[in-house]
Amino acid sequence: MAREWSDSSHDGVALMTDAGGKHELQRLIDEMYDQFRDLNDGQVATYIPELAKANPKDFGICIVTEDGRIFEVGDCDRPFTMQSVSKPFTFGMALEELGHQEVYKYVGVEPSGDAFNSITLQDNTNRPFNPMINTGAITVSALLHARHGDKALDFMLSRLSAAAGRQLTIDEDVYQSENRTGHRNRAIAHLLLNFGVVHDEAEAALDLYFRQCAILVTCRDLAMMGATLANMGRNPVTGEPVFEIGCVKDMLSIMFTCGMYDYSGQWAYRVGVPAKSGVSGGVMAVVNRQLGIATYSPPLDARGNSARGIEVCSGLAARLGLHVFDCLNAGSSYLKVVL
Ligand code: GLN
Repeated sequence: MAREWSDSSHDGVALMTDAGGKHELQRLIDEMYDQFRDLNDGQVATYIPELAKANPKDFGICIVTEDGRIFEVGDCDRPFTMQSVSKPFTFGMALEELGHQEVYKYVGVEPSGDAFNSITLQDNTNRPFNPMINTGAITVSALLHARHGDKALDFMLSRLSAAAGRQLTIDEDVYQSENRTGHRNRAIAHLLLNFGVVHDEAEAALDLYFRQCAILVTCRDLAMMGATLANMGRNPVTGEPVFEIGCVKDMLSIMFTCGMYDYSGQWAYRVGVPAKSGVSGGVMAVVNRQLGIATYSPPLDARGNSARGIEVCSGLAARLGLHVFDCLNAGSSYLKVVL
Protein backbone atom coordinates (compact mmCIF):
# COMPACT_ATOMS: atom_id res chain seq x y z
CA MET A 1 0.00 0.00 0.00
CA ALA A 2 1.46 3.37 -0.99
CA ARG A 3 2.25 5.75 1.85
CA GLU A 4 3.34 9.35 2.10
CA TRP A 5 6.46 8.20 3.89
CA SER A 6 7.64 4.85 5.07
CA ASP A 7 7.70 3.26 8.51
CA SER A 8 10.98 3.52 10.39
CA SER A 9 12.53 0.35 11.74
CA HIS A 10 11.54 1.50 15.24
CA ASP A 11 8.35 0.18 16.75
CA GLY A 12 6.83 3.66 16.81
CA VAL A 13 5.40 5.17 13.63
CA ALA A 14 4.96 8.65 12.28
CA LEU A 15 1.37 9.52 11.43
CA MET A 16 0.43 9.25 7.82
CA THR A 17 -2.43 8.62 5.46
CA ASP A 18 -2.47 5.51 3.34
CA ALA A 19 -3.46 5.47 -0.32
CA GLY A 20 -7.05 4.69 0.62
CA GLY A 21 -7.24 7.96 2.53
CA LYS A 22 -7.57 6.30 5.92
CA HIS A 23 -5.74 8.16 8.66
CA GLU A 24 -2.98 6.16 10.33
CA LEU A 25 -4.66 6.44 13.74
CA GLN A 26 -7.88 5.03 12.33
CA ARG A 27 -6.02 2.22 10.61
CA LEU A 28 -4.19 1.44 13.83
CA ILE A 29 -7.25 1.30 16.10
CA ASP A 30 -9.09 -0.81 13.48
CA GLU A 31 -6.16 -3.19 13.63
CA MET A 32 -6.17 -3.23 17.46
CA TYR A 33 -9.89 -3.88 17.44
CA ASP A 34 -9.48 -6.88 15.12
CA GLN A 35 -6.50 -8.15 17.11
CA PHE A 36 -8.23 -8.11 20.50
CA ARG A 37 -11.96 -8.58 19.82
CA ASP A 38 -11.63 -12.34 20.37
CA LEU A 39 -9.53 -12.05 23.52
CA ASN A 40 -11.64 -13.81 26.13
CA ASP A 41 -9.61 -13.03 29.24
CA GLY A 42 -11.27 -11.56 32.32
CA GLN A 43 -14.68 -11.52 33.97
CA VAL A 44 -17.40 -8.89 34.05
CA ALA A 45 -17.69 -7.33 37.55
CA THR A 46 -20.55 -8.81 39.54
CA TYR A 47 -20.01 -7.41 43.05
CA ILE A 48 -22.28 -4.53 42.04
CA PRO A 49 -25.17 -6.72 40.81
CA GLU A 50 -26.32 -4.33 38.10
CA LEU A 51 -22.87 -4.36 36.44
CA ALA A 52 -23.19 -8.11 35.88
CA LYS A 53 -25.68 -7.33 33.09
CA ALA A 54 -22.92 -5.89 30.86
CA ASN A 55 -22.25 -7.68 27.60
CA PRO A 56 -18.69 -9.09 27.68
CA LYS A 57 -18.47 -8.73 23.91
CA ASP A 58 -18.96 -4.95 23.96
CA PHE A 59 -15.72 -3.39 22.77
CA GLY A 60 -14.86 0.13 21.71
CA ILE A 61 -11.69 2.13 21.12
CA CYS A 62 -11.68 5.91 20.67
CA ILE A 63 -8.92 8.48 20.30
CA VAL A 64 -9.49 12.24 20.44
CA THR A 65 -6.60 14.53 19.48
CA GLU A 66 -5.81 17.73 21.36
CA ASP A 67 -7.22 19.64 18.40
CA GLY A 68 -10.51 17.75 18.55
CA ARG A 69 -10.28 15.09 15.82
CA ILE A 70 -12.05 11.87 16.72
CA PHE A 71 -11.06 8.35 15.63
CA GLU A 72 -13.17 5.45 16.80
CA VAL A 73 -14.06 1.83 16.20
CA GLY A 74 -16.57 -0.56 17.78
CA ASP A 75 -19.03 0.27 20.56
CA CYS A 76 -18.12 3.89 21.19
CA ASP A 77 -21.76 5.01 21.73
CA ARG A 78 -22.72 2.38 24.29
CA PRO A 79 -23.40 3.98 27.69
CA PHE A 80 -21.69 2.57 30.78
CA THR A 81 -21.03 3.98 34.24
CA MET A 82 -17.81 5.86 34.95
CA GLN A 83 -17.05 4.12 38.24
CA SER A 84 -13.45 4.83 39.22
CA VAL A 85 -12.67 6.85 36.09
CA SER A 86 -14.50 9.63 37.96
CA LYS A 87 -11.79 9.67 40.65
CA PRO A 88 -9.08 11.84 39.04
CA PHE A 89 -11.75 14.36 38.04
CA THR A 90 -13.25 14.72 41.51
CA PHE A 91 -9.70 14.96 42.89
CA GLY A 92 -9.05 17.83 40.45
CA MET A 93 -12.28 19.53 41.53
CA ALA A 94 -11.28 19.28 45.20
CA LEU A 95 -7.85 20.74 44.45
CA GLU A 96 -9.42 23.67 42.64
CA GLU A 97 -12.01 24.27 45.33
CA LEU A 98 -9.89 23.80 48.44
CA GLY A 99 -6.27 24.16 47.36
CA HIS A 100 -3.46 21.64 47.53
CA GLN A 101 -2.55 22.08 51.17
CA GLU A 102 -6.06 21.52 52.43
CA VAL A 103 -6.68 18.44 50.25
CA TYR A 104 -3.29 17.01 51.20
CA LYS A 105 -4.29 17.13 54.87
CA TYR A 106 -6.94 14.52 54.12
CA VAL A 107 -5.49 12.33 51.36
CA GLY A 108 -1.95 11.38 50.35
CA VAL A 109 -0.34 10.91 46.94
CA GLU A 110 1.47 7.59 47.49
CA PRO A 111 0.72 4.41 45.54
CA SER A 112 -0.66 1.85 47.97
CA GLY A 113 0.22 -1.33 46.10
CA ASP A 114 -3.10 -2.65 47.40
CA ALA A 115 -6.41 -3.42 45.73
CA PHE A 116 -8.75 -0.54 44.88
CA ASN A 117 -11.16 -1.47 47.70
CA SER A 118 -8.54 -2.22 50.35
CA ILE A 119 -9.41 -1.02 53.84
CA THR A 120 -6.02 0.42 54.79
CA LEU A 121 -4.87 3.88 55.78
CA GLN A 122 -1.37 5.34 56.04
CA ASP A 123 0.38 4.77 59.35
CA ASN A 124 0.77 7.84 61.58
CA THR A 125 -1.54 10.12 59.62
CA ASN A 126 -4.49 7.74 59.14
CA ARG A 127 -5.01 9.35 55.75
CA PRO A 128 -5.88 7.29 52.67
CA PHE A 129 -2.82 6.59 50.53
CA ASN A 130 -4.12 8.31 47.42
CA PRO A 131 -7.35 9.52 45.79
CA MET A 132 -7.45 6.79 43.12
CA ILE A 133 -8.43 4.02 45.55
CA ASN A 134 -11.78 3.88 47.30
CA THR A 135 -10.61 5.19 50.69
CA GLY A 136 -9.14 8.30 49.05
CA ALA A 137 -11.95 8.81 46.56
CA ILE A 138 -14.62 8.62 49.26
CA THR A 139 -12.60 11.19 51.23
CA VAL A 140 -12.50 13.49 48.19
CA SER A 141 -16.27 13.10 47.70
CA ALA A 142 -16.71 13.98 51.37
CA LEU A 143 -14.62 17.14 50.91
CA LEU A 144 -16.80 18.17 47.95
CA HIS A 145 -19.93 17.29 49.90
CA ALA A 146 -18.77 19.38 52.87
CA ARG A 147 -18.28 22.30 50.50
CA HIS A 148 -21.37 22.03 48.30
CA GLY A 149 -23.86 20.02 50.37
CA ASP A 150 -26.90 18.99 48.33
CA LYS A 151 -25.50 20.81 45.28
CA ALA A 152 -22.34 18.66 45.17
CA LEU A 153 -23.70 16.19 42.63
CA ASP A 154 -24.87 18.94 40.26
CA PHE A 155 -21.46 20.54 40.63
CA MET A 156 -19.69 17.30 39.72
CA LEU A 157 -22.06 16.58 36.85
CA SER A 158 -21.61 20.01 35.33
CA ARG A 159 -17.80 19.79 35.43
CA LEU A 160 -17.74 16.26 34.02
CA SER A 161 -20.26 17.24 31.35
CA ALA A 162 -18.06 20.16 30.33
CA ALA A 163 -15.10 17.78 30.02
CA ALA A 164 -17.18 15.37 27.91
CA GLY A 165 -18.71 18.20 25.86
CA ARG A 166 -22.29 17.05 26.45
CA GLN A 167 -24.74 16.78 29.34
CA LEU A 168 -24.12 13.60 31.34
CA THR A 169 -26.70 11.82 33.49
CA ILE A 170 -26.79 9.11 36.17
CA ASP A 171 -27.77 5.47 35.81
CA GLU A 172 -30.27 5.19 38.67
CA ASP A 173 -30.27 1.37 38.58
CA VAL A 174 -26.50 1.11 38.98
CA TYR A 175 -26.56 3.73 41.73
CA GLN A 176 -29.32 1.85 43.62
CA SER A 177 -27.54 -1.43 43.10
CA GLU A 178 -24.28 -0.16 44.60
CA ASN A 179 -26.06 1.73 47.35
CA ARG A 180 -27.83 -1.47 48.37
CA THR A 181 -24.79 -3.74 48.28
CA GLY A 182 -21.78 -1.45 48.89
CA HIS A 183 -21.10 -2.69 52.41
CA ARG A 184 -17.37 -2.55 52.01
CA ASN A 185 -17.45 1.08 50.93
CA ARG A 186 -19.84 1.77 53.80
CA ALA A 187 -17.28 0.24 56.17
CA ILE A 188 -14.59 2.46 54.62
CA ALA A 189 -16.71 5.59 55.07
CA HIS A 190 -17.25 4.78 58.73
CA LEU A 191 -13.58 3.99 59.28
CA LEU A 192 -12.76 7.40 57.80
CA LEU A 193 -15.34 8.93 60.10
CA ASN A 194 -13.74 7.19 63.06
CA PHE A 195 -10.39 8.81 62.23
CA GLY A 196 -11.94 12.19 61.55
CA VAL A 197 -10.95 12.07 57.86
CA VAL A 198 -14.52 12.70 56.69
CA HIS A 199 -17.09 14.99 58.27
CA ASP A 200 -20.00 13.59 60.27
CA GLU A 201 -22.29 13.29 57.26
CA ALA A 202 -20.35 10.23 56.16
CA GLU A 203 -23.45 8.51 54.76
CA ALA A 204 -24.31 11.53 52.62
CA ALA A 205 -20.71 11.67 51.35
CA LEU A 206 -20.89 7.98 50.50
CA ASP A 207 -24.16 8.50 48.68
CA LEU A 208 -22.44 11.19 46.60
CA TYR A 209 -19.59 8.78 45.85
CA PHE A 210 -22.02 6.06 44.70
CA ARG A 211 -23.80 8.55 42.45
CA GLN A 212 -20.57 9.88 40.95
CA CYS A 213 -19.58 6.28 40.12
CA ALA A 214 -22.96 5.80 38.39
CA ILE A 215 -22.52 8.70 35.94
CA LEU A 216 -23.11 7.40 32.43
CA VAL A 217 -20.52 7.93 29.71
CA THR A 218 -19.60 6.40 26.38
CA CYS A 219 -16.16 5.40 25.19
CA ARG A 220 -16.16 8.58 23.07
CA ASP A 221 -16.97 10.68 26.15
CA LEU A 222 -14.03 9.19 28.04
CA ALA A 223 -11.66 9.88 25.15
CA MET A 224 -12.96 13.47 25.00
CA MET A 225 -12.45 13.86 28.75
CA GLY A 226 -8.92 12.50 28.36
CA ALA A 227 -8.32 14.91 25.48
CA THR A 228 -9.53 17.76 27.72
CA LEU A 229 -6.75 16.85 30.16
CA ALA A 230 -4.25 16.45 27.30
CA ASN A 231 -5.30 19.89 26.04
CA MET A 232 -4.31 21.62 29.29
CA GLY A 233 -7.80 21.42 30.78
CA ARG A 234 -9.74 22.85 27.82
CA ASN A 235 -12.27 20.72 25.92
CA PRO A 236 -10.76 20.51 22.42
CA VAL A 237 -14.12 20.54 20.61
CA THR A 238 -16.21 23.05 22.57
CA GLY A 239 -13.18 25.15 23.55
CA GLU A 240 -14.56 25.42 27.09
CA PRO A 241 -11.95 25.72 29.85
CA VAL A 242 -12.79 22.99 32.36
CA PHE A 243 -9.77 22.44 34.66
CA GLU A 244 -6.95 24.74 35.70
CA ILE A 245 -3.64 23.72 34.18
CA GLY A 246 -1.95 23.45 37.61
CA CYS A 247 -4.56 20.95 38.72
CA VAL A 248 -4.35 19.01 35.46
CA LYS A 249 -0.69 18.40 36.25
CA ASP A 250 -1.69 16.93 39.62
CA MET A 251 -4.49 14.84 38.14
CA LEU A 252 -2.15 13.36 35.53
CA SER A 253 0.60 12.74 38.09
CA ILE A 254 -1.69 10.77 40.36
CA MET A 255 -3.10 8.84 37.39
CA PHE A 256 0.45 7.98 36.35
CA THR A 257 1.47 6.60 39.74
CA CYS A 258 -1.84 5.23 41.08
CA GLY A 259 -4.45 5.12 38.28
CA MET A 260 -4.40 1.39 37.58
CA TYR A 261 -4.50 0.28 41.24
CA ASP A 262 -1.98 -2.43 42.09
CA TYR A 263 -1.05 -2.71 38.40
CA SER A 264 0.10 0.94 38.30
CA GLY A 265 3.82 0.12 38.40
CA GLN A 266 3.59 -2.38 35.57
CA TRP A 267 1.37 -0.02 33.60
CA ALA A 268 3.91 2.81 33.97
CA TYR A 269 6.62 0.43 32.82
CA ARG A 270 4.71 -1.11 29.96
CA VAL A 271 2.43 1.67 28.69
CA GLY A 272 3.98 4.76 30.24
CA VAL A 273 1.12 7.26 30.12
CA PRO A 274 -1.26 8.46 32.85
CA ALA A 275 -4.48 6.42 32.89
CA LYS A 276 -7.50 5.50 34.95
CA SER A 277 -9.68 2.42 34.84
CA GLY A 278 -13.11 1.62 36.24
CA VAL A 279 -14.85 -1.64 37.13
CA SER A 280 -17.51 -1.22 34.46
CA GLY A 281 -14.74 -1.73 31.86
CA GLY A 282 -13.60 1.74 30.87
CA VAL A 283 -9.98 2.83 30.59
CA MET A 284 -9.02 6.45 29.92
CA ALA A 285 -5.40 7.26 29.04
CA VAL A 286 -3.83 10.65 28.38
CA VAL A 287 -0.88 11.48 26.17
CA ASN A 288 0.09 14.88 27.49
CA ARG A 289 -0.56 17.70 24.98
CA GLN A 290 -1.49 15.14 22.34
CA LEU A 291 -4.26 12.59 22.84
CA GLY A 292 -7.12 11.28 24.93
CA ILE A 293 -7.48 7.53 24.49
CA ALA A 294 -10.39 5.43 25.77
CA THR A 295 -11.34 1.80 25.59
CA TYR A 296 -14.50 0.09 26.72
CA SER A 297 -14.62 -3.65 27.33
CA PRO A 298 -16.32 -5.01 30.49
CA PRO A 299 -14.31 -8.19 31.27
CA LEU A 300 -11.78 -7.33 34.00
CA ASP A 301 -8.56 -8.97 35.10
CA ALA A 302 -7.96 -9.98 38.72
CA ARG A 303 -7.03 -6.41 39.68
CA GLY A 304 -10.19 -4.87 38.26
CA ASN A 305 -8.70 -3.42 35.07
CA SER A 306 -10.26 -4.11 31.66
CA ALA A 307 -8.34 -7.01 30.11
CA ARG A 308 -8.78 -5.79 26.51
CA GLY A 309 -8.18 -2.20 27.62
CA ILE A 310 -4.71 -3.05 28.91
CA GLU A 311 -3.77 -4.85 25.71
CA VAL A 312 -5.07 -2.12 23.42
CA CYS A 313 -3.31 0.66 25.33
CA SER A 314 -0.07 -1.33 25.45
CA GLY A 315 -0.33 -1.95 21.72
CA LEU A 316 -1.01 1.69 20.91
CA ALA A 317 1.84 2.86 23.15
CA ALA A 318 4.29 0.48 21.47
CA ARG A 319 3.18 1.27 17.94
CA LEU A 320 3.00 5.05 18.35
CA GLY A 321 5.93 5.49 20.75
CA LEU A 322 3.62 7.01 23.38
CA HIS A 323 5.54 5.99 26.50
CA VAL A 324 6.66 9.15 28.25
CA PHE A 325 10.28 7.92 28.07
CA ASP A 326 10.10 6.48 24.58
CA CYS A 327 12.89 7.83 22.43
CA LEU A 328 10.30 9.05 19.90
CA ASN A 329 8.36 11.02 22.49
CA ALA A 330 9.64 14.58 22.49
CA GLY A 331 7.48 15.25 25.57
CA SER A 332 5.82 18.53 26.35
CA SER A 333 8.80 20.41 27.72
CA TYR A 334 9.39 23.88 26.31
CA LEU A 335 13.10 23.55 26.99
CA LYS A 336 13.64 22.43 23.42
CA VAL A 337 12.25 25.80 22.31
CA VAL A 338 14.73 27.85 24.31
CA LEU A 339 17.79 25.67 23.85
N1 GLN B 1 -18.05 2.10 42.54
C1 GLN B 1 -16.95 1.17 42.54
C2 GLN B 1 -16.55 0.85 43.97
O1 GLN B 1 -16.47 1.72 44.78
C3 GLN B 1 -15.80 1.78 41.79
C4 GLN B 1 -14.57 0.91 41.84
C5 GLN B 1 -13.79 0.88 40.57
O2 GLN B 1 -14.20 1.29 39.51
N2 GLN B 1 -12.62 0.31 40.68
O3 GLN B 1 -16.30 -0.26 44.31
